[in-house]
Amino acid sequence: MATISKLESACIVAGGGPAGVMLGFLLARAGVDVIVMEKHADFFRDFRGDTIHPSTLQLMHELGLLDAFLKLPHQEAHHFGLNLGGTVIGADFTELPTVCKYIALMPQWDFLNFLAGQGKRYPGFRLLMSTEVTDLIEEDDRVVGVRATGPDGDVEARAPLVAGTDGRHSTTRDRAGFEVESLGAPMDVLWMRLPRKPEEADEPALIAAAGRILVLINRGDYWQCAYLIPKGGYDELKTKGLAAFRGELAAIAPFSSDRIDTLQDWDQIKLLTVAVDRLRQWYRPGLLCIGDAAHAMSPIGGVGVNLAVQDAVATANLLAAPLKAGTVQLSDLEAVQERRAFPARMTQRFQILAQDNIIQQALDKQADFHPPLLARIGGRIPTVQRLMGRLIGLGVRPEHIHTPDMLASDTPAR
Ligand SMILES: Cc1cc2nc3c(=O)[nH]c(=O)nc-3n(C[C@H](O)[C@H](O)[C@H](O)COP(=O)(O)OP(=O)(O)OC[C@H]3O[C@@H](n4cnc5c(N)ncnc54)[C@H](O)[C@@H]3O)c2cc1C
Repeated sequence: MATISKLESACIVAGGGPAGVMLGFLLARAGVDVIVMEKHADFFRDFRGDTIHPSTLQLMHELGLLDAFLKLPHQEAHHFGLNLGGTVIGADFTELPTVCKYIALMPQWDFLNFLAGQGKRYPGFRLLMSTEVTDLIEEDDRVVGVRATGPDGDVEARAPLVAGTDGRHSTTRDRAGFEVESLGAPMDVLWMRLPRKPEEADEPALIAAAGRILVLINRGDYWQCAYLIPKGGYDELKTKGLAAFRGELAAIAPFSSDRIDTLQDWDQIKLLTVAVDRLRQWYRPGLLCIGDAAHAMSPIGGVGVNLAVQDAVATANLLAAPLKAGTVQLSDLEAVQERRAFPARMTQRFQILAQDNIIQQALDKQADFHPPLLARIGGRIPTVQRLMGRLIGLGVRPEHIHTPDMLASDTPAR
């Protein structure tokens, strides 16, 4: 008969994305015993946001980790330019009241490996890779743990709190029966790479023309490309064939013509479906969802990763002490939603506004696309660019580290 591994902890974090790994690290740093379960064997997946915003860099500074973090390969984006049908509007990060006045463009696997490495310095941090949470364990209407499948078989892990950080296709929120409010998204994203030449611009860019939108993120020797298509339009695109797709790309980004042939197979082009939704209530006794599991974000503004990180910081700030003392109450979980629901709602409102007025319009227009007059005029005014920089770079209600470092007195942060 197969054996089931039984584990216990003060907190089980289901999902090792930005929200989960940051939460696990901060709780362990504060002396809380925590298990983070991640279903994949590693963090090396391509389809994650790669933007580390000034607000997250500020947190790294507060943690004393900024210098070590910035030693990882990254590019700096001090501005973000949107080329909307020939009109260039932008966001300016250079005057933010933060230590780093730029977005660091860094593959998310480097970011997560860094955080996990920091977590491992603390005795209470356990990261179980290749471990997929499949169900919640409930007793008397209370979540008391999770069932999972790991590399060595089935796992049952129990804890006073399960944190659902398993993203926009969350198993925990599904099993908990949480009510989800869908806000809709008009697009899906095709995610692919094109070679980049050293002399090419290094800031990220968005080009919208002829019913298509292309976002370019500089990753050194290649461009990470996000190509927006109308929702559900992937099959039609595939039916037209790869040559037609390459032609479309080259038309919107003529610079790519000399390297478009590097796209030789649909396997190089990943379809990422976009969803924007949120839970009405993020918690039940014994369970709290945060990050995309509580409020799935669209790629617009590249803010989802940072919002997930901010959720994790707020959760650690509010729950580390009661988790350590073993006294966490429903009202503590409610306090997390109370603190973070407003920033999530405001950010989603901004994303929906951009979706409806820019993305949807741009995808509808087969001819020249002209963004709304307000965006065209406003986007060129330096004050508005700085305001956009603040909205994207800092977000609504930025969090700060209030949790202690249990190693602070004897081991300096590396
Ligand atoms: C196409 C696209 C592009 C985007 N680009 C950006 C961007 O450039 N910048 C940005 O800031 N945001 C971007 N976003 C949004 C961003 O990806 C999310 O908001 C952010 O990743 C949320 O972080 P999270 O930790 O809550 O969830 P996720 O990043 O989704 O992490 C969840 C983790 O849980 C794991 N998991 C899932 N189910 C289980 C399970 N049952 N058991 C164990 N583990 C599980 C997953 O493998 C994953 O590692 C983009 C979104 C999309 C759709």
